[in-house]
Amino acid sequence: MEQVDILVSEVGPRDGLQSLAQVMPTQAKCEWISLLAAAGLREIEVGSFVPPSVLPQMADTAEIVAHARTIPGLDVAVLVPNLRGAENAVRAGAHKISIPLSVSETHSLKNVRRNHAQMLEEIAAIASLVAQQPAEQRPHFEVGLSTAFGCTLEGPVSEELVVRLAVAAIEAGCAEVGLSDTTGYANPAQLRRLVKKVWDAVGRDRLNGVHLHNTRGQGLANALAALDMGITTVDASMGGIGGCPFAPGASGNIVTEDLVFLVEAMGMKTGIDFEALMRARDFLAAAMPDVEIYGFTPAAGLPRGFERA
Ligand code: ZN
Repeated sequence: MEQVDILVSEVGPRDGLQSLAQVMPTQAKCEWISLLAAAGLREIEVGSFVPPSVLPQMADTAEIVAHARTIPGLDVAVLVPNLRGAENAVRAGAHKISIPLSVSETHSLKNVRRNHAQMLEEIAAIASLVAQQPAEQRPHFEVGLSTAFGCTLEGPVSEELVVRLAVAAIEAGCAEVGLSDTTGYANPAQLRRLVKKVWDAVGRDRLNGVHLHNTRGQGLANALAALDMGITTVDASMGGIGGCPFAPGASGNIVTEDLVFLVEAMGMKTGIDFEALMRARDFLAAAMPDVEIYGFTPAAGLPRGFERA
């Protein structure tokens, strides 16, 4: 498999689908994920292990993981809210487990019904679960610092608190932290500042990824700031679908198709084929006809004469 410069991590099947009223049938999810992988996406967050009573859209996550694991070369990522979810993720064979640690404690209580201290206990318990797995089956364990740039419930979020929680999460045993702009508050200057502060506190190798939303149209500007800093993993969702069901006003993720064009146009490799990406997009549009799907590059097409890096 060719080396990539930037890992575009597709979160549409999780962040996207969980926010929609319409439930995508299991078979369609499997086909969509296969098309995304065929387009060259190497990491896909395929679902979350939450009780079906909370998010019926994610009820089939174990089946989806089982399917995704059959796709050669694909890193299968899942989101979990707690230890029980992580146990299910390990049982299903996910390659990567992420848990959200909301910097806004109000959002944390709404989202996962736990405060910071309780979440850090949960993270420590998951870290020990992960450590008990045989080395070749051990999933990568990441803590996503959500609402790291601001919160629709609390307003501004303290950067010192983001740094403190990053340190606490690493001390609790996760391999890596990520910065999540759950509600689309981030601006590029803030992103640069926060990445640097977290790097200074936990080490550069402990923060490689950002998760951005395009709520105020700043998504790609923030992605560019992250790339310029040396961040190597950027989450995005096909068609920009997504939001957080427990963060009022949170709208879609940055659009995978536009992010791929940005990165490739600047001469960096994503390993993603644009035409194949469009086939996955067409499938999504057909499978979820009532869902609004965004993206400038898909609408305009690639520029004439455009050659990928
Ligand atoms: Zn998100």
